[in-house]
Amino acid sequence: MVDCGFTVKEVLKRLPRIDLQPEQIDGILVTHEHQDHISGVGALSRKFSIPVWATRGSLLSGKCGNLPHCNIIEGFNPFSIGSLNITPLSVPHDAREPCQFLFTQDQVRLAILTDLGCFTPKIVEQLTPCHGILLECNHDEEMLWNGPYPDRLKQRVAGRMGHMSNRQAIELLQQMEREALQLVIATHLSEQNNCPKLVSELLAEALNWPLEKVKIAQQDKGFDWHEVCST
Ligand SMILES: [Zn+2]
Ligand SMILES: [Zn+2]
Repeated sequence: MVDCGFTVKEVLKRLPRIDLQPEQIDGILVTHEHQDHISGVGALSRKFSIPVWATRGSLLSGKCGNLPHCNIIEGFNPFSIGSLNITPLSVPHDAREPCQFLFTQDQVRLAILTDLGCFTPKIVEQLTPCHGILLECNHDEEMLWNGPYPDRLKQRVAGRMGHMSNRQAIELLQQMEREALQLVIATHLSEQNNCPKLVSELLAEALNWPLEKVKIAQQDKGFDWHEVCST
């Protein structure tokens, strides 16, 4: 499991939708200490004795409470859980030591990349090749600037340590090697400053994919299982 911004009760309500029980979760990986990612991590870990992996910076925030089963991600070094190899990716975001993740198993590579104000050449390099990506499409720039957020918040979201816009997500997709890419799920969409239909249209056009091939993670529904394979 990557992050947990839900209460234990909400997690127990959502897991059966994807046919999972909490006992089947081998670990919780923490990306950073913002509430929407960390608020449920400690309680879930303690209740079901699930080990947690997090950077020292995330842990120092103290937002997880007491964690009896904790592993520290040191220096963005790769580590494994069972047969899953995990490479932490360093991202520009206004948290203490934020990271995102690239998962590798049997030559298949899947990246989760949300909560970053911009992408770096290093990230583009680390994503090569990549078979699937869960990519932040936080806001439409025009909707953000014309929207209801206070000015300081608009500047934070749009800043280099904030969140990726649809335009930036498309630029990243255009810069990365896409030959092996089979799955793109747009994630971390702002409810106020973005529109799922617009995101699907923009990504489908940029990737030259049919509209229905682009998936969107919705805050209430999440998304179903998807398969990616080595090509
Ligand atoms: Zn977030
Ligand atoms: Zn964040």
